Amino acid sequence: MAKKRVVRKKAAARKPVAKKKPVAKKKPVARKKPVAKQKPAARKAPTAKAPARTIAPRPAAVLSAPVAKPVVPVPDPLAPLGAHVSTQGGAALAPARGDDIGATGIQVFTKVPNQWKEKDVSAAEAAAFRAAMAASGQRWVTSHDSYLINLASPDSTLRARSLESFTLELRRCNTLGLDALVSHPGNYLDDRASGLARNADAITAALEAAPGPTRLCLELTAGQGTVLGSTFEEMAALLARIPAALQHRLGVCLDTCHVFAAGYDLVGDYDGVWARFGDVIGFERLGVLHLNDSVGACGSRKDRHALIGEGLLGREPFRRIMTDRRLAAVPKMLETPKGDDAVSNDRRMLTLLRGFAAAG
Ligand SMILES: [Zn+2]
Ligand SMILES: [Zn+2]
Repeated sequence: MAKKRVVRKKAAARKPVAKKKPVAKKKPVARKKPVAKQKPAARKAPTAKAPARTIAPRPAAVLSAPVAKPVVPVPDPLAPLGAHVSTQGGAALAPARGDDIGATGIQVFTKVPNQWKEKDVSAAEAAAFRAAMAASGQRWVTSHDSYLINLASPDSTLRARSLESFTLELRRCNTLGLDALVSHPGNYLDDRASGLARNADAITAALEAAPGPTRLCLELTAGQGTVLGSTFEEMAALLARIPAALQHRLGVCLDTCHVFAAGYDLVGDYDGVWARFGDVIGFERLGVLHLNDSVGACGSRKDRHALIGEGLLGREPFRRIMTDRRLAAVPKMLETPKGDDAVSNDRRMLTLLRGFAAAG
């Protein structure tokens, strides 16, 4: 297979950046300045006047400027397919990293995920990021929020800090024009029902404080400890508590490892699991799939990702997902172990998945 022509009418329209560089050389674009030292979290509301517009709906390919990207393989009627990539050196470097692994969509962190330290996205950084996206083979991008955030915490101090961090995350996503923000429901710690209410209230507050184009996708969890959102019913209940006026900004992220660990047997009852998902949450809510194999068994509640085909899910559920019409338009991101050579591992995983799709 082989001609890879990616082409985006939108990109063309937008007078993209020069004709994109070959991608071959890993060393991504040089552009942008380090970004590293941000001035802390200046609280401003960048979003307000943010170009809300953005990259959002990136239309599929149209015939025009062929791209010289050697990586994006043929069967590209596929929805954006990719992996989590680094933003080391600046967000604008991420799209080229997606090209390096043969992705057509990427997941990033907009800040260091295991620290509270916040980060601002300047207009220049946002512009550089959008230009880099337009010049790349990437058609879709999501952020994953910080691991420290717990919007369901009974500790009001931690919850307030979480809400602030989460709101800033949402603002950064809007400013960068990201398609989605994946966020884990929190840990209730004391009482499940109270935790669910706190979580929904905090999500509501953040969405109201940070309007913009980015779709918030709540991720189904593995059910470890007191984490919320490991059953379709609980996720549906969480979504239902958010006001109607905000519903159009909400979606769900289904992680294959998480749902399997939570007890949904994608190996023994693939059809049953998806039928249940459709009934309880609904396919229209599915904003993104995280494709990860699982180290833990079905029902183990262990959130430990394995390479596709090398965990207890095995290849078959992924082959089915890649050929499932109901999931055809849903962006699919890997969060599999990177090993010593992230580029090779991610490339290998994406090639495997594309092979499933091609084999039909
Ligand atoms: Zn995930
Ligand atoms: Zn996980």
